[in-house]
Amino acid sequence: MKKGMRLSEVLGLEIKSYAVNFDLNNGCQLRCTMCRPTGGPSVRDQTVLPIDVFSREVVPVLARAAHYQFGCYDEPTLVPYFEEAMGLLPPERIGRMNTNGMLLTVRKIDVMAASAKFCLVKISCDGSTKETFEKIRVKGVFETVVRHATYAAKKFGSETVALVFTLQQGNIHELTGVVELAARIGVGTVIMHSKQSELAWCGQRLDTYLLALEAAKKEGVALMESGQLGSGGYHGFAAYRYPPIFLAHVPLYLRVNPSGAWSIL
Ligand code: SF4
Repeated sequence: MKKGMRLSEVLGLEIKSYAVNFDLNNGCQLRCTMCRPTGGPSVRDQTVLPIDVFSREVVPVLARAAHYQFGCYDEPTLVPYFEEAMGLLPPERIGRMNTNGMLLTVRKIDVMAASAKFCLVKISCDGSTKETFEKIRVKGVFETVVRHATYAAKKFGSETVALVFTLQQGNIHELTGVVELAARIGVGTVIMHSKQSELAWCGQRLDTYLLALEAAKKEGVALMESGQLGSGGYHGFAAYRYPPIFLAHVPLYLRVNPSGAWSIL
């Protein structure tokens, strides 16, 4: 694939074996300590891909991929046309969503369930107690996220919803607690990421993981380990700046420039 290809050329390629990961905005309302402690675009300042560009340029790519993920580095529920976007997602493709869960209202969850085919809705939860959760997920509210995760599990089914836990020194003692929390609210999976800069403490990490695995077995919750996080965001996405589309599992991603023209970087 050559550099600088336009999206129309990409559409001619066979990409069904790839997953497409995408963000339609570059904003987040939270300031998590491992991600954006000092800021970044927020609701007011975020840049959002116009809905007509999404509909015209992105949706056809999603329709040709094996599956897609809505939300990589930014918060998808902040996209002002979130509900319309759900209606545009190709119903024949299987989707995943990454969200901090704060704005996942009952209405949004209902619209998601009615419009698209989600196999996994990942909701970030970095603590099993209010104190730890809110210390890490600055501006997040523990009870709100738990309430929304509970409703999402009820609506989608426990096997479709996961709590995502970013393991770090400040919450390592609560991994087992998050597994138990998932079981209490009907969520079937806990996905654990590791904060890359803190991977050195392997012994402590292994002990924690084994204890959490025992709890997971007892509670009937799946516990998985996923990729790693760097200090600037998701691993592999650190060079990200608005507005990209990532084709996961291939060494390229697509970027749209402000005029709406797309190219492969
Ligand atoms: S980790 Fe997620 S929720 Fe937290 S600031 Fe980063 S993008 Fe927002």
